[in-house]
Amino acid sequence: MHNRQLFLQHVGQTSPEPMGIEIRKAEGIYQYDTNGKQYIDLISGFSVCNIGHSHPKVIDAINRQISDYMHVIVYGEFIEAPQVQYAKMLADLLPGNLNCVYYTNSGAEATEGAMKLAKRFTGRPNIVAFNKSYHGSTQGALSIIGDEYFRSAFRPLLPGIIHAEYNDEAMAGLIDHSTACVIMETVQAEAGIIKPDIEWIKKIREKCTQTGTLLIFDEIQAGFGRTGTLWAFEQYQVVPDILLLGKALGGGMPIGAFIADKKIMDTLMAAPVLGHMSTFGGHPVSCVAGKAALEVLLYGKFMDEIAEKEIIIKEKLKHSRIKKLHTAGLWAAVYFDSFETNKKVIHACIENGLITDWFLFRSEALRFAPPLTISKEELIRACEIIISCCDKI
Ligand code: PLP
Repeated sequence: MHNRQLFLQHVGQTSPEPMGIEIRKAEGIYQYDTNGKQYIDLISGFSVCNIGHSHPKVIDAINRQISDYMHVIVYGEFIEAPQVQYAKMLADLLPGNLNCVYYTNSGAEATEGAMKLAKRFTGRPNIVAFNKSYHGSTQGALSIIGDEYFRSAFRPLLPGIIHAEYNDEAMAGLIDHSTACVIMETVQAEAGIIKPDIEWIKKIREKCTQTGTLLIFDEIQAGFGRTGTLWAFEQYQVVPDILLLGKALGGGMPIGAFIADKKIMDTLMAAPVLGHMSTFGGHPVSCVAGKAALEVLLYGKFMDEIAEKEIIIKEKLKHSRIKKLHTAGLWAAVYFDSFETNKKVIHACIENGLITDWFLFRSEALRFAPPLTISKEELIRACEIIISCCDKI
């Protein structure tokens, strides 16, 4: 039987219309299907492949690691150099209070671990989260995501969750001495690239500090240079108590992390001991791949060009069909009048060799998040394909 039929029959499906392209190879900013058709990856495998696909340095690091060892024991027992070296590198690149990394397997697990850590450290029951936020699909993460359509079918969910409006001045009043944490995306992704107002986010930081509430920033999608700085929060002069990472953290391999001050993290060691557990968290192969990818990103100076590339996006993506454009570095939401129009543009883009998709809570907006290694010429080509597809539909 053909792989397409086998995929539909034997691989658990999550939507009635999967993109259904069968990829044979992915390299740099390109993916190639089994017919040899080349696609520009405009979404970096959903903000994972920030340095492109199959970078030789990442492949080399993986090959060296798998010849030494892969899984050896559950998380947190043995000293695994790949975990240690990557945690040290991350800590060196982060503000001083974000010095201790707990590795997970995915972004959702990082969210789960961070929520538990905040409850355990503060001894408080409540969590403030935001409308149109996305933090993962497991039960705890689902409880805090900001969309009732996605939550409602899975109740009962976690109690004590308060949803607030992002960028709303008055919401700071919801943070009090019963709040364990405020969890937010530094830049809201699936809401269609919504940036925080700088005064607002500073006010949240202040309120959290005053009330002893932990502030958690989810940079699972915004991290690793996407917004033009290594960490998006650098642009807002606000440092969280816990940082969530995932996606690009593994350079194409699965991994997630929540990062906090060691004093906070150490509360997971007692009452109960093993306050958070994982068999595969911080897999050594994922750690070496992620570290190699981060080195490529930093030493390749790809972030230096992001501001210029953002200008190219703004200049090139002009068309009567495009209603508005939200950008944050090399990241954009291209808004159309409806989901129907967006869907037609997306299908036309894929036909014309450009992989893209819509945003979870903004189905009328097209996702634009290419590898940060994309050249200016390739970026212009990608924009031209979108514009020509707008003409065609
Ligand atoms: N947080 C954000 C902002 C995300 O975009 C995602 C995934 O899209 C997650 C958390 C969950 O990550 P994962 O899919 O690895 O569980």
